[in-house]
Amino acid sequence: MYFDNNATTALAPEVLAVMLEELQKGPSNASSIHSYGQSARGRLAAARHTVASYFGVAPKEVIFTSGATEALNHVIKGLGNGKRILSSELEHAAVLTPLHNRPLVTLLKGAVTLEKMADHLPHSDLLIFMAANNETGVKTDLAALADVAYQRGIPLIVDGVALIGKEPFTFHRGITALVFSAHKFHGPLGAGCLILNKNCPPFIEGGPQENRRRAGTENLPAICGLAKALTLDKKTEQIGQRRDYFEELLQELDIEVNGEGERLCNTSNLYFPGVEGEELMIHLDQVGLCCSHGSACSSGTLAISRVLLSLGYPRERAKSSLRFSFSRFTTPEEIERGADLIKETVKKLRR
Ligand code: PLP
Repeated sequence: MYFDNNATTALAPEVLAVMLEELQKGPSNASSIHSYGQSARGRLAAARHTVASYFGVAPKEVIFTSGATEALNHVIKGLGNGKRILSSELEHAAVLTPLHNRPLVTLLKGAVTLEKMADHLPHSDLLIFMAANNETGVKTDLAALADVAYQRGIPLIVDGVALIGKEPFTFHRGITALVFSAHKFHGPLGAGCLILNKNCPPFIEGGPQENRRRAGTENLPAICGLAKALTLDKKTEQIGQRRDYFEELLQELDIEVNGEGERLCNTSNLYFPGVEGEELMIHLDQVGLCCSHGSACSSGTLAISRVLLSLGYPRERAKSSLRFSFSRFTTPEEIERGADLIKETVKKLRR
């Protein structure tokens, strides 16, 4: 059972079919002048058009990248130099690492609210916030945030990785840049996108690809896969019902949900009192259930979730918490079997 879909997801069969078709098309350098190149250019333009119309933006604002990490580095380094940046401790490493050691960065602690931001806004030139947290699933009030950004004329960069492809997204005026990654919604690994409606120097320099905004021959099979994945039926409601059912089944363990506020449909970050999260995760893996104790970028280590700590949960609670994240492929049978395995394992470990 795979309950770690916020780390990555399985490729959807429809996406695989599109990618295989693309891989079989023959040489496909979209910058070549000959007929193969022209045909590739047409398919690239079609994928760009699909993404642009999905978000209601202009095709020239869509920049295909190797993933969200590249896209975030691109826009942070391109727009952030010398700027007073307001962001949050809850952001992913792909945001926090490029912000590290910059003198003019303020990171909000704990849950992100407009009230907390208010004092900092008069001294901020750039805002960087995630649409939803990848560990707790808690969503940011993007409509309100984008409105504030618009009213004050401060560019807003949105890390949409945890939300895009799982739930509908409105590209509010006030959003300057949106970043997402295809492998989080049944698209291929190594395919991301930056939607950017402002001038920004390229992060990867070289040829004139992507309207001179990102050099390098485009990875057409991955880009076509990304576009296909974006337009799949998201099944948001179905996933949400299954997630809620999962939490209901585990109630007898006295679990508590980590994260307050409206959550993404697929994410369940749970506190299991009296059990070490790491130990529980390893035992569950041995009986066939994959989950995680936080961001995949830190779960290779024994680190305690810095997100839960920043949210104000005690260390003991953070150490006793695990993240379960579901997808369109998660069946009710898996939810029931998974909940049974968790109940058995937790009871054994608590003895
Ligand atoms: N932002 C968030 C919220 C993420 O969860 C991730 C990956 O887990 C990233 C950015 C980076 O995405 P990628 O590793 O696909 O570049």
